[in-house]
Amino acid sequence: MVSRVIPVDPFDLVIFGGTGDLAQRKILPALFRRFCAGQWPDDAQIIGAARAEYTPDAFREVVAESLRSHAPAQSRNADALNTFLQRVDYVPLDALSDTAWDRLAAKLADDRVRAFYFSVGPQLFGQLAERIKHHDLATPKTRIVVEKPFGHDLESARALNATLAAHFSEGQIYRIDHYLGKETVQNLMAVRFGNMLFEPLWNSQYVDHIQITVAESVGIDGREEYYDRAGAMRDMMQNHLMQLLCLIAMEPPAKFDPDAVRDEKLKVIRALDPVEPHHIVRGQFDAGPSGAGYRDTVGNPRSTTESYVALRAHVSNWRWAGTPFYLRTGKRLIERSSVINVMFKDAPHSIFGADAGRHANVLSIRLQPNEGITLKVTIKEPGPGGMRLVDVPLDMSFAEALGSENQDPPDAYERLVMDVIRGNQTLFMRGDEVEAAWAWTDPIIAGWQARGDVPKPYDSGSTGPGDAELLMKRDGRRWQGINP
Ligand code: NAD
Repeated sequence: MVSRVIPVDPFDLVIFGGTGDLAQRKILPALFRRFCAGQWPDDAQIIGAARAEYTPDAFREVVAESLRSHAPAQSRNADALNTFLQRVDYVPLDALSDTAWDRLAAKLADDRVRAFYFSVGPQLFGQLAERIKHHDLATPKTRIVVEKPFGHDLESARALNATLAAHFSEGQIYRIDHYLGKETVQNLMAVRFGNMLFEPLWNSQYVDHIQITVAESVGIDGREEYYDRAGAMRDMMQNHLMQLLCLIAMEPPAKFDPDAVRDEKLKVIRALDPVEPHHIVRGQFDAGPSGAGYRDTVGNPRSTTESYVALRAHVSNWRWAGTPFYLRTGKRLIERSSVINVMFKDAPHSIFGADAGRHANVLSIRLQPNEGITLKVTIKEPGPGGMRLVDVPLDMSFAEALGSENQDPPDAYERLVMDVIRGNQTLFMRGDEVEAAWAWTDPIIAGWQARGDVPKPYDSGSTGPGDAELLMKRDGRRWQGINP
């Protein structure tokens, strides 16, 4: 199946931090893939802006190198690569200084969509917003894209929202959570709201509990200083897992429209109960074959920052009363895998007797790897010998079903950057959502600090600390395998 490509309006996209890791590894390759797919109009350009004193040609060389590594299939087409590079420009610019902004302004066209991507450290977000406005670079068609982390806590997120709001309207601010750009996450909404099959069962009467796992096999990877100040709660739970929880738990929005969807997500966050301390497990990885332990990695022998967190959350509303949500995320785990498991209740009565065993349906939504959806259903074990039941998967791998096995799966950034140009904010976080998520997370972190809580060690390459198993066991439940 070939996806339809609708070209976007002419645009100028300025990437502040264009020489950095995120720009080179994700944003520019995503833009190049959309270029190769035919989604760019003729009048469109990218302007890198960062502190390095590159000439435009030197920057193009850096970009070409990155594209060869991160978009290898498309870069083999030399014509496409060269044409794309002709659309790439560069201005050396310091976000903390007022020089060189006129050079940037001279490269921008007044009538095009104008997007400023803040792919720099969060301490520069406010400065950039102020300088764009001060140097008169903002037009009615201007959008700004803000990377994570959006604040460190509620207070800093509020301050950042206020700074951005002083210069841009909410409709111009695109707060990225790249999980929302993943194909399966959007499919989650299609599955829930495009089928009659699931929605009538999507409540506490039929769903026993929901598990959300975002497991990473890698460690901290050059982000030691940031990570040791953040930890898994701020780095993953407050944003990515919270967003997944919102999409699973929200009421059907009246339409697939940015504010309708975000209003429903916000209601979920606001309905979350505070988490009891005994419903949270924190962990820190030990040394293992894949590298040093957490404290050695971050160079802080007394660090009490968690690289793993598991918790039980409750959404206190009519639909979900009594259905717990178990969320876990961690680094250096056995496998890289993001999956949501909707665990349905047992059939109320087994007509087959105790020997047949009890079986419940599980809907697994895999975000990575191998994006797809599996529904476990109970059938009779084949063959003679009585009525024994087994669970079998009804499996839908998107790569197979949509005939895209031989193509790279689209990266979340491809979708998100094009949505910025299109002016569609549905898959971006609104300011009040981010603040509500911090308002839920802050007391959890404050509780750890007040109690002097120390994370439990866990083996690198394991499924996390044993206490996370106990969290489930106490409730008579257990985690599904990290990779179902
Ligand atoms: P990086 O350190 O690799 O790059 C930072 C970029 O900012 C460089 O281009 C640098 O020249 C530029 N820069 C620094 N100070 C500047 C200044 N005063 N004026 C102008 N430019 C300046 O960082 P990164 O990993 O690319 O991350 C960028 C942002 O994206 C950060 O907010 C980070 O939290 C976020 N992010 C990164 C990733 C990732 O995978 N790298 C993932 C999610 C979010």
